[in-house]
Amino acid sequence: MTRAYFSLGTNLGDRGAFLALGVSIMSAAEPHRVSRVYNGEPVGGVVQDDFWNLVLEVTTSATPYELLERVAEAETAAQRTRDIHWGPRTLDVDIIWIDGVNCDEPQLTVPHPRMLERNFVLVPLRELREDLVSDEDLRRAEGRVDVVGTLETLH
Ligand code: ATP
Ligand code: CA
Ligand code: CA
Repeated sequence: MTRAYFSLGTNLGDRGAFLALGVSIMSAAEPHRVSRVYNGEPVGGVVQDDFWNLVLEVTTSATPYELLERVAEAETAAQRTRDIHWGPRTLDVDIIWIDGVNCDEPQLTVPHPRMLERNFVLVPLRELREDLVSDEDLRRAEGRVDVVGTLETLH
């Protein structure tokens, strides 16, 4: 058993519903915890609506590549299309951290190579795992994030 952490983001359609769908597929009925939901300004320069983001912790016996398959399953269930890189999407799921795992392949890089740049990842991750995110990390990361509520109240 290990603990895996996923960043879920959406800025298209019923954002609360897409986050709930993503949590349900990614957790696959295994023990899990979710952070609060944060509103974040888009990064990457494409003009688009704000994102809602959360971090999900799953205690799992699945392998990293099995978790990557779950990611594809969740994004497909949300009818994610890939038009503009870093553009609007119904659901993006990134594997950000897995306890004890270091993986440096193009298909699967864990820890996620850009997690330290992003407040929308670090701020919710810190709610669940204070030890993984330092004050210094938060100072260096970019983008404003504000709490919108919890998944239960938003969906
Ligand atoms: P970013 O990675 O900067 O957040 P993005 O999420 O928009 O960008 P995608 O288009 O969703 O990028 O990239 C998907 C590809 O990234 C997939 O082919 C997947 O195999 C690969 N990938 C590599 N590492 C990871 C990871 N840790 N989590 C999810 N996908 C990953
Ligand atoms: Ca992403
Ligand atoms: Ca992604």
